[in-house]
Amino acid sequence: MNGLMMQQPLLISSQLEFAARFHQSVEIVTRTVEGPIVRTTWSGLAKRVRQLANALSASGIKRGDVVATLAWNTQRHLELYFAVSGLGAVLHTINPRLPPDQLTYIANDAGDVMLCFDTTFLPLAKHLASVQTPIKHFVALTDDAHLPKDFQGLRSYESLLVGQPETFTWPSFDENTASSLCYTSGTVGLPKGVLYSHRSTVLHSYAICMVDALAISGQDVTLPVVPMFHVNAWGVPYAAAMVGSKLVLPGPALDGVSLLDLITTEHVTSALGVPTVWLGLLAAAKTKQVKMSMLQKVTIGGSACPPSMITAFQEEHGARVLHAWGMTELSPLGTANVLLPKHASLSKEERLQVQLKQGRPIFGIDLRLVDDDGKVVPHDGKTSGHLEAKGGWVASAYFKSDDHSHHDGEWFATGDIATIDGDGYMQITDRSKDVIKSGGEWISSIDVEHAAMMHPAIAQAAAVGVPHPRWVERPLLVVVKHKDKEVSKEDLRAFLETKLVKWWLPDAIEFVDALPIGPTGKVLKRQLREKFKDYALP
Ligand code: ADP
Repeated sequence: MNGLMMQQPLLISSQLEFAARFHQSVEIVTRTVEGPIVRTTWSGLAKRVRQLANALSASGIKRGDVVATLAWNTQRHLELYFAVSGLGAVLHTINPRLPPDQLTYIANDAGDVMLCFDTTFLPLAKHLASVQTPIKHFVALTDDAHLPKDFQGLRSYESLLVGQPETFTWPSFDENTASSLCYTSGTVGLPKGVLYSHRSTVLHSYAICMVDALAISGQDVTLPVVPMFHVNAWGVPYAAAMVGSKLVLPGPALDGVSLLDLITTEHVTSALGVPTVWLGLLAAAKTKQVKMSMLQKVTIGGSACPPSMITAFQEEHGARVLHAWGMTELSPLGTANVLLPKHASLSKEERLQVQLKQGRPIFGIDLRLVDDDGKVVPHDGKTSGHLEAKGGWVASAYFKSDDHSHHDGEWFATGDIATIDGDGYMQITDRSKDVIKSGGEWISSIDVEHAAMMHPAIAQAAAVGVPHPRWVERPLLVVVKHKDKEVSKEDLRAFLETKLVKWWLPDAIEFVDALPIGPTGKVLKRQLREKFKDYALP
């Protein structure tokens, strides 16, 4: 017997219309590419989204078409999120930090027919206009006054909206229809497309709003620093519409001083981003001697969160750190680290050790660990294995690819090495390609890096395996010092001896001015391995 409940497709357009009706006066604030801060509300945004949907339809964009963006976190980008997907077309958010040849590749692979870009990315748009792609329409996300002049056929976004009605009847369709497309950064091989659906996006939105997940809430002023060109800003735009969170969008200004300014003037209570952006913010707050007392929660994911960062946010600014793990193929959220009642009695140091884990799976995601032969290994907090995931917002295949990375027909192999403890807390020890293989045993590069970053003079650290005649690989530690701090290699090594087991100690330490950072804000270990491949270990 079936239940007698209404059948309503889970569609992204319904999130927008809900926000327009029930969170009408809640603000959306943007630092624009042109410079000034602009404000609208969810109801004002919805009017412009409907105008845009009319304009896109008038330009011939129809269901199934792919519309690409090269854009920062701004109001206009948010409008595209809802208008393109709402129409039943597919929003392809391109990461502007990809090299031009990869941009060409993904514009073709995706089949983009329109490109909407911030003027910051004019050179990239010109590149795409000069090579063979299916793109027919180029739109600059600005007004006519700021429209670049030397680009044939280019239209301004604002001119598209002029005269369009503020009403639009959103089509209803199968909730499994594709809604957006995001390519993995291609740290290994060519980028691969992950094609989200309306259903997966709406389910993921519900999930991240859970209090024990990212707790996206109408009580918060939310600042997604994580780019809207990287896994849909971790799904925050959709979830914020559902719960009516005030959104603060940082535009192109992602440096510490600009973020600090936005956080304090807009009273941001919840901010989300990768560790590299928080390094800049914490440094700016220190220099300017500002305590970010309004900030209640900082969600950190994308790479392992260093212990010093958790301590700085929690002890210097009184914000709670929420460490989370996910990936493009998981929409992205897989786990979130929220403490349990039993952790209240732990010492500060013991609690920090729990917070360093990537957290517990959120309902809707299942995780398991397998060995090299695909056999499930114990979840005892000690045994590490290849992390696999499944769930309603996990990719079942890559776009136009037969590389499925799936086992047993259903489990997605994440490429991470992890442990899972008895409470379900998962801890990443490494990405499988970054693990340092020393004499048949594995050294966790993340643990070596964390130990180094506990030293007060060290700002950033990366541990990579360097070929070794006897042990196959041994760790080389590459570190960046804080600008105003000093430490010698000998002293750093002595410090590490108090933190790491002997055979995990790096064989050598190198000081550098900066680490190579990839398109999604992560340290490019591959590039470091390449640079130091002939390194003469002592
Ligand atoms: P890519 O970096 O390949 O573009 P993603 O941005 O989807 O892809 O990154 C996913 C990967 O980032 C995960 O598989 C994991 O290795 C890493 N990652 C994400 N969050 C964390 C975290 N909190 N701690 C450690 N690693 C993380």
